[in-house]
Amino acid sequence: MRFDVVSIFPEYLAPLELSLIGKARADGLLELAVHDLRSYTQDRHRTVDDTPYGGGAGMVMKPEPWAQALEDIAAASPVKRPVLIVPSPAGEVFTQKLAYELAEEDHLVFACGRYEGIDERVLEWAAEHYTVRPVSLGDYVLNGGEVAVLAMVEAIGRLIPGVVGNPESLVEESHSDGLLEYPVYTKPSNWRDRAVPEVLLSGNHGKIAKFRREHQLRRTAARRPDLLDTLDVSNFSKTERNVLWELGYAVEQGRAVRRTGE
Ligand code: SAM
Repeated sequence: MRFDVVSIFPEYLAPLELSLIGKARADGLLELAVHDLRSYTQDRHRTVDDTPYGGGAGMVMKPEPWAQALEDIAAASPVKRPVLIVPSPAGEVFTQKLAYELAEEDHLVFACGRYEGIDERVLEWAAEHYTVRPVSLGDYVLNGGEVAVLAMVEAIGRLIPGVVGNPESLVEESHSDGLLEYPVYTKPSNWRDRAVPEVLLSGNHGKIAKFRREHQLRRTAARRPDLLDTLDVSNFSKTERNVLWELGYAVEQGRAVRRTGE
């Protein structure tokens, strides 16, 4: 899989040389190139922004350097139609589901905006060469797209086969099945008068699985009840349904529905 990132701050992407993503690059599991937008400018001052038409605060990124950068990257793409991800607080929200979807692609290009963002015509024009997807990291505003790209490349990159040593660890993670992960513990079994739940020391795999499932449900209900609202629970076992009931939910038509009066 290939990633290209365009930014006016290429140094911002240096952490992608570290840890699992850095190792995956060194092992040839993924290719990643960072391009300086200013190297696609034509003027002496290497200008990338200008004042907004219609007035208002801030500056807007000029279309010419973006078009040049994106044209060159598309021309060198291993695929006919790469995906162009444009980080933006006005995009669709990045989720684990989207990370899985994007991990299936062969070539992802990221266009890091700054200031008030990129001239809108760049996105319209880019659609001739790319599948364009404005993507938001969440409902807040960052100064630039680089932090969003660090997060997205890491989330997508770790789903590429071979990047995470034990693929099992991707299976039970938060958001992999619509729930949050259960709490985890390590040695010592007693730390500052806090004991690890007894069942985890029992060696009884059935009981451990049951405990973990129960705590996935408990944690999700406590921290992210919105996830339970959209979860398909039609295949839930009697034990899982009992836990939901205890947490104040009934199962109706395959959905967890908050019991009235709770
Ligand atoms: N004026 C823009 C708006 O209100 O939608 C915000 C511009 S922001 C200051 C500058 C750049 O940061 C954006 O072009 C985008 O690349 C990036 N950015 C800001 N918040 C983001 C978010 N939540 N997700 C992804 N990228 C974001």
